[in-house]
Amino acid sequence: MGIPAVQKASIGFYIMRQLLLGHQRFPLVLMIEPLFRCNLRCRGCGKIAYPEEILNRRLSVEDCLRAAKACPAPVVSVAGGEPLLHPEISHIVQKLVDNQKFVYLCTNALLAADKLHEFQPSRYLAFNIHIDGLEKRHDTMVGRGGVFQRAVNTIRLLIDNGFRVTTNTTLYADETPENAAALFDFLTSLGVEGMTVAPGFCYPDAPDQENFLDRKKTTILFQKLFNIGRTKKWRFNHSRFYLDFLAGRRHYECTPWGNPTRNIFGWQRPCYLINDGYAATYKELMNTTQWHRYGLGRDPRCINCMVHCGFEATAVMDAVTHPWKMVM
Ligand code: SF4
Ligand code: SF4
Repeated sequence: MGIPAVQKASIGFYIMRQLLLGHQRFPLVLMIEPLFRCNLRCRGCGKIAYPEEILNRRLSVEDCLRAAKACPAPVVSVAGGEPLLHPEISHIVQKLVDNQKFVYLCTNALLAADKLHEFQPSRYLAFNIHIDGLEKRHDTMVGRGGVFQRAVNTIRLLIDNGFRVTTNTTLYADETPENAAALFDFLTSLGVEGMTVAPGFCYPDAPDQENFLDRKKTTILFQKLFNIGRTKKWRFNHSRFYLDFLAGRRHYECTPWGNPTRNIFGWQRPCYLINDGYAATYKELMNTTQWHRYGLGRDPRCINCMVHCGFEATAVMDAVTHPWKMVM
């Protein structure tokens, strides 16, 4: 298992084409947030604090399709909020799949079983299930009992019905390497295709400011975690170089244009984590954002960020343009 060969080949071909065309900045993953409303209130979530009138707004099917056509990224992550609350989410996903985008539908899984009949299994579609820990921890993080078990049941149901399934875990400062390892063992035993992992980002508006990892704590946590994982069969939904970066073994600059974000306000500058306003079009985002102002040492909000939306594209480009490093 792991990321299907066709997806890897398609992404590799896309990157080579962009490089041959001489493009300096290009995206790998488009993030679409079709709404901010959610049916959970997780600790640390920066998306659900908007007022009701904003939570009631949604991107249309056409908005999402236009964004995916304007932005050439081969992968589209559909997030939110909870995207399964969008009444037209299955149409949005199907249109993206029809356009041969590799879609990751990020969900907390509460509605997935009821909506499953609206989706068709496809090599272009993966359900990306939010799980931040084993049962007690996950239910505490999302503020509701029983959510972990429903997520696990949903993973089994999706796999049984032929869907691709990945998971999405955020690690916070009070997480131990042992507990995180136990979670990854469990998710691996369920047969998920790959696991996405992120150190919690300190959103300025997040209610729980104490519980975020700084860079030093992030690298120590991931070093210990990957030491435990050396003999395991964990499959992460990340490049090897990005995992090295999390463990402090590589040093990268942020390349936020690698993961542009389209939501109900427009194209968010510079990334989905921090908000310095919106561009009306993808072209405007790429051409007028002051990219040089962001990253470690340039913007104080970036000081502790090691999240994949800023650094996975950097790591992938490093691997593609320096293949001998992979061999080593
Ligand atoms: S499920 Fe996702 S969007 Fe909903 S509250 Fe939790 S982190 Fe936020
Ligand atoms: S370092 Fe993180 S927060 Fe800053 S621009 Fe990059 S991705 Fe966004």
